[in-house]
Amino acid sequence: MSKKPSYTDLMNRIEELESRDAEWRGHVRAEWGDDGLLKTSDRSFRDLVENSLTGISILLEEKVVYRNPEQERIFGPLTDDGPPSIYERVHPNDLEKLHGLIQATISGHARQEGIVIRFINLGGKTEGENAMRWLHCRTNLIELQGRKAVLINMMDVTKAREAERLLNIRDRMISLGHVTTGIAHEIRNPLSGINIYLDTAEQILQRGGDPEKMKEILGKIQAASSKIEAVIRRVMDFSKPSEPRLESIDIHQPIEEALGLCAVMLRKTGVEIITDLAPGLPPCKADVQLIEQVVLNLITNAAEAMKGMETNKKIKICTLQKGLRIVVSVADTGPGVSPDLAQKIFDPFFTTKKSSTGIGLSLCQRIIHDHGGILKVSHSPLGGAEFSFAIPVNS
Ligand code: ADP
Repeated sequence: MSKKPSYTDLMNRIEELESRDAEWRGHVRAEWGDDGLLKTSDRSFRDLVENSLTGISILLEEKVVYRNPEQERIFGPLTDDGPPSIYERVHPNDLEKLHGLIQATISGHARQEGIVIRFINLGGKTEGENAMRWLHCRTNLIELQGRKAVLINMMDVTKAREAERLLNIRDRMISLGHVTTGIAHEIRNPLSGINIYLDTAEQILQRGGDPEKMKEILGKIQAASSKIEAVIRRVMDFSKPSEPRLESIDIHQPIEEALGLCAVMLRKTGVEIITDLAPGLPPCKADVQLIEQVVLNLITNAAEAMKGMETNKKIKICTLQKGLRIVVSVADTGPGVSPDLAQKIFDPFFTTKKSSTGIGLSLCQRIIHDHGGILKVSHSPLGGAEFSFAIPVNS
């Protein structure tokens, strides 16, 4: 059976097709000085553009003034109502991304690798998610009749995206299958605890009921049930690939919320928290809840790594701006992560703990990846591990 192409294979194929387009881009530059593309008489150039497998559009002041046939196949032909805006039918969450790309192109800083943009209501399929298409867009700055124009190449990668999404879900399901025993174990222990506490509560009630003891038992039942809930929630989070809801946020908000949530745990375990949060950071584009989840996970991991230590248990959280990104780091004074483990710890279900799922870091990495960043581990100046990620500012 032939091997299904991976998403990377498909992207490489796109690169290959686009590099062929370099030839006609040369023509574009040569032609447009005097006459303008729309009137060009060069047949070979026209043939190249019109037969290209890549959708090609030309934008003047963010309006589409030309579409080649492949682009017309996706968007339909231009009509006599005047040039449409390039932002028509762009998914609302991708509007800023496309605007950023076009502005960067005009100012001569276009990203060579391009970006993937979602378009909606492009015809064919009619409802909901099905009507959405993923188009890989690359841009070039050109001159059209003495004015700055943007040449935009678009390749439909919807099928590749869909295939990748399904493969991801399948992989996660297979991985989940592998750890069902572990999950069952994690749930069974607190569940047995609940049953024992219930028996004890019954006995206490039969003996007339001691309110203090009952209160204690109820607290224990509650803790055990929360543990089961947490296991289920983590498994659900992992199997459900949720799209982040990106908003303009102050990065310190999710950090402070995460710190608030684990303050008691840190105090009880003797961990000192040091914060070095840069003042006046610009807002960034992020999902508050997901970033909070990542920071909470990193803090919990750091605290767990220092569990066996008697003294010098410290976690330092820093934020700083680096160019157009905001960097968040969580460092600790624990044993650190050895170079051979550093490769594995982001794998789903890799854990060195006796009763843990090993889901945390792979989930964190996926969240940061969805925010356009990478989660990295390094050696901390404090002596232990340092986990850091950088996400784009909301420009
Ligand atoms: P889990 O916490 O369930 O083991 P994670 O994916 O969160 O799953 O972590 C995977 C492994 O990475 C941990 O088992 C541990 O070995 C290692 N690790 C994570 N954080 C740290 C840290 N701060 N210091 C040392 N090792 C760490």
